[in-house]
Amino acid sequence: MENSPENCNVKVALHIRPLLRHERQNGGQECLDVVPGTAQVLMGSHSFIFDHVYGGGGSPSSNMFEECAVPLLDSLFQGYNSTIIAYGQTGSGKTYTMGTNPKESSHRGLIFQVMNMIFSKIEALKHQSEFQLHVSFIEILKEEVRDLLESGIIEKLDTNDENPESAIPGKYQLQIRKASDGAVSLSGSTEVSVSTQKEMTACLEQGCSNRSVASTDMNNQSSRSHAIFTIHLEQKDKKKGETISSELMGEEYRCSKLHLVDLAGSERAKRAGSEGLRLKEGIQINKGLLALGNVISALGDDKKRKEGVHIPYRDSKLTRLLQASLGGNCKTVMIACVSPADYNAEETINTLKYANRAR
Ligand code: ADP
Ligand code: MG
Repeated sequence: MENSPENCNVKVALHIRPLLRHERQNGGQECLDVVPGTAQVLMGSHSFIFDHVYGGGGSPSSNMFEECAVPLLDSLFQGYNSTIIAYGQTGSGKTYTMGTNPKESSHRGLIFQVMNMIFSKIEALKHQSEFQLHVSFIEILKEEVRDLLESGIIEKLDTNDENPESAIPGKYQLQIRKASDGAVSLSGSTEVSVSTQKEMTACLEQGCSNRSVASTDMNNQSSRSHAIFTIHLEQKDKKKGETISSELMGEEYRCSKLHLVDLAGSERAKRAGSEGLRLKEGIQINKGLLALGNVISALGDDKKRKEGVHIPYRDSKLTRLLQASLGGNCKTVMIACVSPADYNAEETINTLKYANRAR
């Protein structure tokens, strides 16, 4: 697969959640219209076009997995990294869409379906290849990276951290390392070996509870942090040279990963912006979202890519961590989540603009 400029691997989908019961009871009205049969959304005099629009009169959300995740899973098994990112204000449906917190609702989001398909693919391919799966689950809060799969450890790993005073007992702080081949990794992040879907789900649940435990005493931390659940796949062909495609010959192990990212609520970015970036935390959360917007927009812009414009990965921890899985042959899907309610109109338009820029 060539890394050609026309080979654009960034897709942006919009997910419009329904009006919630309490919103309807409070007289909330819908303020978004999907042009029937298209992926175009109208809000007042504004019009936006996405790769896909789900909910709110667009495609049924049940198509999302097939259209947004399956191509990335195919890529994963071909040895390429990819990333699915949920963006939007708090309450817009990011966690619901990703299924980052399986205990939170009975709804099964993308992560569940992703796991399901990975295990069925492995089952179908096991006669020709050996597979090993690991998962990691980390959170970025105020430019600090924490391991959500490691609990009960009161040690602090990262001595060069920018915010040494804010160490949280019970969590490692991890350091981002860049190897000589350019690969970015987290030193010390737990990679749990899993061999069943149940084990993988247990890791997801464990990480979520580590995230929410902290949230009770940290002023709703989960809406202020980025959560990255990563599935690492290692595959090795059993009959070397017979069943493998020629481009992969000579490599014994193929390693690839899929990141599933539930971003911090985007309303912080706006608020921080309107207050002149004075709040330190605002700046730091903002940093990730701003940098991600810049990176994805640069990657999705054929003209910029042809001109070899610098992709600003290094501007935040979030983009540095995702660097090896954004751009090049990596596939990226951003799912922008919005509320249809009129009282959220201002945040919704901000999300539509951000996502539109990413496209
Ligand atoms: P976020 O993670 O962006 O803060 P949540 O995923 O927690 O938002 O969603 C907020 C509320 O809306 C939750 O009660 C969730 O169950 C509900 N919700 C979100 N998206 C949908 C949807 N597509 N259909 C039905 N309910 C939804
Ligand atoms: Mg959430």
